[in-house]
Amino acid sequence: MKKTDYDLIIVGGGMVGASLACALKNSPLKIAIIEAVPYTADKQPSYDDRAIAISYGSQRIFESIGIWSKLVQYSTPILAIHISDRGHFGSTRLSAKDEQVPALGQVILARSVGSVLQQQLAQQANLTLHCPASIQSLEQYDSHVRLTLDNEQILTARCLVVADGGRSTVRQQLGLSTHSHDYQQTAIIANISPERPHQNRAFERFTDSGPLALLPMADNRCSLVWTVNSGDEIALLALNDADFLVQLQSCFGYRLGELKQVGARQSYPLHLVQSDQPVQHRIVLIGNAAHTLHPVAGQGFNLGLRDVAALAEVLHDHADDCGGARALHEYTQWRTADQDNVITITNSLVQLFSQSNPIVGHLRGAALSATNALPPLKHWMAAKSMGLARKQPRLGRGLKL
Ligand SMILES: Cc1cc2nc3c(=O)[nH]c(=O)nc-3n(C[C@H](O)[C@H](O)[C@H](O)COP(=O)(O)OP(=O)(O)OC[C@H]3O[C@@H](n4cnc5c(N)ncnc54)[C@H](O)[C@@H]3O)c2cc1C
Repeated sequence: MKKTDYDLIIVGGGMVGASLACALKNSPLKIAIIEAVPYTADKQPSYDDRAIAISYGSQRIFESIGIWSKLVQYSTPILAIHISDRGHFGSTRLSAKDEQVPALGQVILARSVGSVLQQQLAQQANLTLHCPASIQSLEQYDSHVRLTLDNEQILTARCLVVADGGRSTVRQQLGLSTHSHDYQQTAIIANISPERPHQNRAFERFTDSGPLALLPMADNRCSLVWTVNSGDEIALLALNDADFLVQLQSCFGYRLGELKQVGARQSYPLHLVQSDQPVQHRIVLIGNAAHTLHPVAGQGFNLGLRDVAALAEVLHDHADDCGGARALHEYTQWRTADQDNVITITNSLVQLFSQSNPIVGHLRGAALSATNALPPLKHWMAAKSMGLARKQPRLGRGLKL
């Protein structure tokens, strides 16, 4: 049996795992990615047709990694965000101009992020891609981990990063516990063509069943993420296009005029999954494997990418023992507060905005109006959504590792 030694092995070459490998392209680390599903497969679960709102902070990380120049052709800038609550008075508007940034964020299809990341990985001299492959067994030693793949290859590494998504099989193989919450909500995604120009505005509208977002895309299309109570998606997905648009219009209203066309619809059941032990001896869980979030605030990938930037910096700075206790302790100290904060805010938003109680509804309206009237509060909210509220890693400040 062939045995290969690496410094770092990343299990899962999805958006987060592949970003970590790219971030470390100039490091002295010898890296492997183990990915179960070929990147060209239709069913590749990370790189599908969902549109991802990438924060300004994430854009800066991609710039430092050197791939923003390739991603920009697929992206649409968000110049303003309009937040409202269906059936209640009050709304908030955030704008790139007020925040003095070129854009509050960018909208990119996960599929496009995938194609750019793959091109980058293919050129990376310090990286070996094992794909399709998955781990059959895993042993932890003091100085390394040892993996046996399903093709019988044996790999060792001083650090193992687990980025195999929300249903992480490696997390299960390691016997790591999670706490999870089923939101009893399902997100329906589709592309929508509205009558009026979107003018690069993103809309977040809270409704009784859950939040509804329309994100600006090229050719005046919008990407819809419509959260409904689980079970209700069955009827909505079965409707013909015209009837679906009637239902959507009644929830969203006429801010973009008549909603004219809808593309293929897909659905995602929504859960919170949070790993209780995201850092283990020589092992780190990142991305959805560490925390799978509700898409209400568009923070899942952005949080994952901030973890990537911090982890890349720590692994690079401790290249001599990249999975050692000092390196992983530093990473944990750095990232736990942001992770907990984003999870708490996301959960609170889902709970607050999924209640049909009229008193809560009036309070929400008042809160949105108050936010709109208070520039410091608005600025704080914008900084949070742009991913700029905390200590930035070197890659988030436009620096090299
Ligand atoms: C509807 C919707 C809208 C969203 N919108 C936004 C948004 O606007 N902004 C935002 O920041 N986030 C958003 N998110 C969240 C975002 O999609 C996730 O945070 C992101 O996809 C997580 O990436 P990941 O690489 O951690 O996991 P995944 O994307 O799940 O990738 C995991 C990878 O691991 C591979 N894998 C799985 N098992 C194994 C194994 N055993 N061995 C090897 N490889 C394996 C898979 O094939 C895959 O390539 C949204 C999510 C949803 C559902």
